[in-house]
Amino acid sequence: MKIMVPVKRVIDYNVKVRVKQDQSGVELNNVKMAMNPFDEIAVEQALRIKEAGDADEIILVSIGPSQSQETIRTGLAMGADRGIFIEAPHETEPLSVAKLLANIAKQENPGLIICGKQAIDDDSNQTGQMMSALLGWSQATFASAVSLSANTALVTREIDGGLETISVKMPAVITVDLRLNEPRYASLPNIMKAKKKPIDVISIDTLGVDITPRLSVLKVEEPETRKAGIKVGSVEELLTKLQDEAKVI
Ligand code: AMP
Repeated sequence: MKIMVPVKRVIDYNVKVRVKQDQSGVELNNVKMAMNPFDEIAVEQALRIKEAGDADEIILVSIGPSQSQETIRTGLAMGADRGIFIEAPHETEPLSVAKLLANIAKQENPGLIICGKQAIDDDSNQTGQMMSALLGWSQATFASAVSLSANTALVTREIDGGLETISVKMPAVITVDLRLNEPRYASLPNIMKAKKKPIDVISIDTLGVDITPRLSVLKVEEPETRKAGIKVGSVEELLTKLQDEAKVI
């Protein structure tokens, strides 16, 4: 069985994101980029499934600027087998991404697609769900545990009330949550090995998907900075302030 893992290049989660001066988006120039953290968890899960003998190939797919190939290399250094890169001329919305990925899935026939529950740049949380609908495959979102048997995947999902375990028929799309696993670091020998692993470059025009954005961003703003707090000397003072200044009681 093949496992396909879509991986997105996003601003590194340690970086403090800055809004561009013209408010058209966030600053990407000279900003450290990295693999979307949820996608690292997805790659790790695919590796664990392969190591358990339930898969024989892990294919990473990334859509974005040419530097997205570095993101694929990161996953290859973790242990994935090969990559597919689709260069996009501009930012692609989740529906376009889902259509492109569904096309690749039809060519590659994986038994599982494991992706992040969301990309931390747009926080859309849409691609996995849309992809499973386009393919007509089962879906299991927000996975915090996955086990496979024959043609089914047993997936524990993090939901509001606790944990829900569902059984889905494969092929399936699984989107992963934070607590599923702790991704491994790539070792130096594996980083060297990854340089020789193949990355196929597929032209977006050959996939027959209209990637014209359907949304237009009107304005991006910094969140309001919080005012500094004050310390009160007594409960009485707190109550007076809540009554007279904040007028909340
Ligand atoms: P989103 O729906 O944008 O929050 O993204 C959910 C997941 O879809 C991500 O964690 C990735 O696994 C995948 N994905 C989204 N955008 C891309 C992209 N441009 N290239 C590859 N995978 C992507």
